[in-house]
Amino acid sequence: MQRMTPAPSLWRETATPAPPLKALSGSVTADVAIVGAGYTGLSAALRAIEAGLKPVIIEAEEVGFGASGRNGGVVSTKYRVSLSDMARHHGVETAKRMSRLGHDAMDCVERYVEELGIQQAGLAKTGNLRCAHNAQALAALTGEARTVRETFGDQSLRLLDRAETAFETGSQDFAGGVLNSHAGVIHPLNYARGLARAVVAGGGEIFERSLVEQAKQAPAGIELTTSRGSVRAERLIVATNGYSNLSSATSMVRQAVIPFRSAMIATQPLPPETFNSLVPHARGYSETRRMMRWFRRIDDRLLFGGRGAFGKTDSASAFTALETAMKGIFPKLADVPITHRWSGLVAMTMDSLPQIGLANPRTAFSFGYNGTGVAMASLLGRHALELVIGEKPDLGLMRRDRPEAIPFYFLREPAVRTVVGWYQFLDKIGR
Ligand SMILES: Cc1cc2nc3c(=O)[nH]c(=O)nc-3n(C[C@H](O)[C@H](O)[C@H](O)COP(=O)(O)OP(=O)(O)OC[C@H]3O[C@@H](n4cnc5c(N)ncnc54)[C@H](O)[C@@H]3O)c2cc1C
Repeated sequence: MQRMTPAPSLWRETATPAPPLKALSGSVTADVAIVGAGYTGLSAALRAIEAGLKPVIIEAEEVGFGASGRNGGVVSTKYRVSLSDMARHHGVETAKRMSRLGHDAMDCVERYVEELGIQQAGLAKTGNLRCAHNAQALAALTGEARTVRETFGDQSLRLLDRAETAFETGSQDFAGGVLNSHAGVIHPLNYARGLARAVVAGGGEIFERSLVEQAKQAPAGIELTTSRGSVRAERLIVATNGYSNLSSATSMVRQAVIPFRSAMIATQPLPPETFNSLVPHARGYSETRRMMRWFRRIDDRLLFGGRGAFGKTDSASAFTALETAMKGIFPKLADVPITHRWSGLVAMTMDSLPQIGLANPRTAFSFGYNGTGVAMASLLGRHALELVIGEKPDLGLMRRDRPEAIPFYFLREPAVRTVVGWYQFLDKIGR
């Protein structure tokens, strides 16, 4: 198998050493086989261990190779669909359940970090500030915050006016914002590596550099094959998210996601006094443009990320666009060099919600976090394991009978390009 080059991210450069793991060779048995060593797969394995089962994870590259080792590390309770929209279309009780699941997801990350001793993940519960890029966006944010507070009794949100948002961010660009205190930031790759260490310490096995080429239903369970080995297990969890196109073994998920490339840049170290006025509370920050951008501090650097488009590789123009956007929002960074550029694939779904369920009684799936999966993948990995052992967690709108295939799948690349172009245009003209 041809190795892929891991992203040259700041996370890789600053991560604690990876746990030593081998490639799969020969035949192995397990209670649960899991494809993919991101947060979904690792968390499913930890839940399997809690249930007294032996999990085996098979990873094509290395732990955290996918989005879990490349993301912005903003940990939050949020979905891409607003809770008021959920309440409008599916009723208040369903929206309340979704709100609860969002908070459970945040709690799940906190519990893992604390109970598994993943201090190197540097989880800081500094909150998440959503910044409105214009008055219309602020009105929508304000309405949503009011619904969440009054209808769901969720007191974690606070409205900020223009001046407070300028103080909070160090930018004059925003009309106001909403601060969610039940959120924070994390070192994403250290978190993934910490989860992996806990899986191994609990008796699970993780094989890296082992692409699952085939997944077959065998008489007594499931059989996965790689070029050098095989795994027989009673149950299977597919945890490949935006990276489901590496082999045909995961095509049921591939057909249900639209992979969007998301890019990140990091500045060179900045003098400490810069942060007296630039993101002084070191929260996670996101803004409301359709082609969403987000930023945060890590040590003495600013990280800035944004959605790109459908694309198989990094694009120089996407990084340049990101740098221009960052310098537009923070003119004081105009002359600051960028030292790191990397990207990864976010899995979008047709209705912008994650999907979790059983493809058959022995096979569970969980994917489609739509760019907000640090917390939710950690939680849904656990629920995927529960589903495949016969439990019935209430998963609100995310529970599906099967991965819901994108209609006209072959058209998704040109369709995404068209939508992205249109969104970029609307963002540019301030709509
Ligand atoms: C640039 C970027 C920034 C982001 N920022 C944030 C953020 O700030 N906050 C947030 O909440 N979310 C963010 N996200 C989203 C978040 O990272 C993901 O939702 C989450 O990591 C998904 O985890 P996962 O385990 O489901 O998938 P992944 O971490 O993508 O793992 C899937 C794994 O499956 C493996 N795999 C695939 N096929 C096979 C096969 N056939 N055999 C073996 N292994 C296979 C892949 O190699 C990969 O390692 C971001 C994503 C990106 C790309």
